[in-house]
Amino acid sequence: MSWQIDAAGWCDAAIAVPSPNCDARPDGVEVDLLVVHNISLPAGRFGGDHVLRLFTNRIDPQAAPGYETLAQLRVSAHFFIRRDGSVLQFVPTTARAWHAGVSTWRERSGCNDVSIGIELEGSDLVPYEDIQYDALIRLASALLLRHPVKEAVGHCDIAPLRKTDPGPYFDWQRIYTTLPQLRPEPLAE
Ligand SMILES: [Zn+2]
Repeated sequence: MSWQIDAAGWCDAAIAVPSPNCDARPDGVEVDLLVVHNISLPAGRFGGDHVLRLFTNRIDPQAAPGYETLAQLRVSAHFFIRRDGSVLQFVPTTARAWHAGVSTWRERSGCNDVSIGIELEGSDLVPYEDIQYDALIRLASALLLRHPVKEAVGHCDIAPLRKTDPGPYFDWQRIYTTLPQLRPEPLAE
């Protein structure tokens, strides 16, 4: 069965974990961009609930070194795809999640306005799981039916001076071969 995004912007195959870290998209914008990220907390460690806690403002500042800073962040993504292929959803796709930060794509800044943020549980240092690609493709297929999405890019593409995710192990061809409509056109010179 293919996955569906309902009228309110929630995916039927995802576990809903609503986050307060979102707001309304500007009037009149179209959701036309998918932004792929990676995240793991602590860095390089998979499983556990620290990412879920980060996106819902429940990080224990004492749980690991550096978490005092993390506990003050107010961030989110629409989706988080775990190593086992399960999908969590924090923000409905109709709303603006806070994943991109300072960013620019095709001369538009503030990519949160127009994008859907998808975090893969992972790091720049290890390959992703096959089942994560499967989930990402199913999710992207559902998003294409619900929003006028035109391209999928990495956080590294929209914030190249700050970000490297999803990193060198992310195999874009697996996405673009299955969903060629998401392959970005070359940037104009
Ligand atoms: Zn990122």
